Amino acid sequence: MLGLMQDRPLLISTVIEHAAKFHPAAEIVSRTAEGPIHRCTYADIHRRSKQLANALTKLGVQPGERVASLAWNGYRHMEMYFGVSGTGAVLHTINPRLFPEQIEYIANHAEDQFLFFDLTFLPIVEKLAAAMTSVKGFVLMTDRTHLPAITRVPNLICYEDLIGDQSSDYDWPQFDENTASSLCYTSGTTGNPKGVLYSHRSSLLHSMMASAVDGLGLGANETALLIVPMFHVNAWGMPYAGALCGAKLVMPGPAMDGKSVYELMRDEKVTLALGVPTVWLMLFQHVDANKLKPKSELALKRVVIGGSSAPRAMSERFEIDFGAFVIHAWGMTEMSPLGTVCNLLPKHRDYDLQQRLDIQAKQGRGIYGVELRITDDEGNALPHDGKAFGHLMVRGPWIVSSYYRGEGGKILDADGYFDTGDVATIDADGYMQITDRSKDVIKSGGEWISSIDLENAAMGHPAVAEAAVIGAAHSKWQERPLLIIVKKPGQELTREGMLQYLDGKIVKWWTPDDVVFVAELPHTATGKLQKMKLREQFKTYRLPTDV
Ligand code: AMP
Repeated sequence: MLGLMQDRPLLISTVIEHAAKFHPAAEIVSRTAEGPIHRCTYADIHRRSKQLANALTKLGVQPGERVASLAWNGYRHMEMYFGVSGTGAVLHTINPRLFPEQIEYIANHAEDQFLFFDLTFLPIVEKLAAAMTSVKGFVLMTDRTHLPAITRVPNLICYEDLIGDQSSDYDWPQFDENTASSLCYTSGTTGNPKGVLYSHRSSLLHSMMASAVDGLGLGANETALLIVPMFHVNAWGMPYAGALCGAKLVMPGPAMDGKSVYELMRDEKVTLALGVPTVWLMLFQHVDANKLKPKSELALKRVVIGGSSAPRAMSERFEIDFGAFVIHAWGMTEMSPLGTVCNLLPKHRDYDLQQRLDIQAKQGRGIYGVELRITDDEGNALPHDGKAFGHLMVRGPWIVSSYYRGEGGKILDADGYFDTGDVATIDADGYMQITDRSKDVIKSGGEWISSIDLENAAMGHPAVAEAAVIGAAHSKWQERPLLIIVKKPGQELTREGMLQYLDGKIVKWWTPDDVVFVAELPHTATGKLQKMKLREQFKTYRLPTDV
C-alpha cells in the first residue's frame, strides 16, 4: 500500500524560492574578480537567477544541455547554480586549476553549449575558445565597463547585458527530481578526468543533511565563509544548503591568501568557515607574520576542514588561538561530497582538550544517507574495531552510480557499494579514520604503513609548514617511508631533530628511513598533495638504510 502524501519533486529551484520568501534580506557578500566587495541578498539572487533563466531560454538552451562555468566563488556564480539548474539545464562547473588540455578535454566531453567565465580567466578562454567545439557563445561574468576592448574570444557576451533586459518573471519548470542538475569532473591523478553527474534529488538530500546540526550545522544565524570552491563538488553543497536555511554566505572570489581571508572573516563576522587544509596554513602564516590576535578579533566559532586530512596540530591551533572548533569532514566528488562528519558524542563531554583532539583527528561518523564499510582485498567485510584497515566502500542516494557517459564502466560492487579508493579504519563508535589512499599506502615487508598518520605526526613539529610521506623503494622491505618536509620560513630543523621528535609519537617500525627538505610540495588542482609526482621525483632516491 502506498502512502498518501504529496509527491512534490525535490528541485533546486524550490530552494531559492524558499530563501526569497523566508530569508530575503540575508546577505551574499562576494569579493569580485574585478576587485571590490559586492553585497546582495537572497532576494537579489532569486530575481537575477530568474533573469538568467529567461536569458538562457532566449539563447535556446534546452533542458539537459550543459552550460559551463569557469568562475570563482561569487554572487554571479551563485545565480548560475539556480538559474541554470532551475531551467532543467545542467551546470558544468569547470575547475580552472586543471591543465588547459584537461579543460579543453572536459568542455568537449561534456559538450558544453555556453561557457560563462570570470574576468581572471579571459587569457585561458582566449587560448582554448577555438578548440571548444560545442560552445556557441562565451559569457564574460562582468558588466560593460569591464569588457576588454579587444579580445580573441568569438561570440563574447557580457553577463550583465545578457540578463539586464530580461524579465524577472519566470515560472520554474516542474520535472522529475532525478533530472541531472550539475556536472563536475574528478581531477584524477591518472587518465582523463571523469564526470560525476548530480541530480536535483541527490543535491537537495545532500544539502539537507549537510545543514543538519550533526552535519555541518548551517542555519539562519550563521555567517559561512566558503573558501571551498564552487568549481569543485558544488562548494560542498553550501550554496544550496545556505539558501535552504538562509545563512549569510561570504565568498572570497579569487583571493584565497591569508590576508584576504582574515579580513573577510573579521569584517563580515564569519562564524563558520569551510576549506581545505592548505588555505588554513596560509591563514596561520598571515596571523604569525602580523602577530594578530584572532581569538579577540574574530567571531569564528567553527571551521570545517576536508579534502585532505586535518592535522591534529591544525585543530589544536584553531581551538587555542581562534577559539574555534574544527569539524573534520571527509568525502569526495563522487559523493556530492559529504560522507562523514566528525562531531562529538555525549560520552566525549568530559574529555580534556588532548583527548578531544584525538577524536577530531578522525574523519568522523557516517551521516544519515551514507552507508560505510571496510573490506579486505577479497571484498570480505572487516571489523569496526578501530584497528583493522581496509578499502572504504560507500553506498547512498547522493553517491555516484556510474560516471558520465559510462566512462570507467561498472563502478559498483554486487551490493551496490562504490570503492572510494581510500583505506580506513572504523571504530566501535563508528568514527572512520582514513589511513591512506589505496595507492599511497606504504607496503613494507608485507605490512601496511599509513603515510597520512606519519604526515600528521610530522606536522605537529613547530618548524614544519607541510609534510609528505611516500614509499621509497627498498631492496629488502620493498618500500620504506621517506619523509619530505617544507620548513616554515626562518625555521631550523635537521633530519635527526625530526626523527627525535617522532620518537614515541609513532609505532617504532613506521619511523621514516630518511627525511629530506624541499622548498615546496606539488599539489593537485584541488589542493591535495600530488604523491604521484613526488614518487616520480624520488624514483631513484636511495635510502640510507638500503645498503
Ligand atoms: P575529491 O574527489 O577531489 O574531492 O577527492 C576526494 C578524496 O580526497 C578522498 O577520496 C580522500 O582521499 C581525500 N579526502 C577528502 N577529505 C579527506 C579528509 N578529511 N582526510 C583525508 N583525506 C580526505
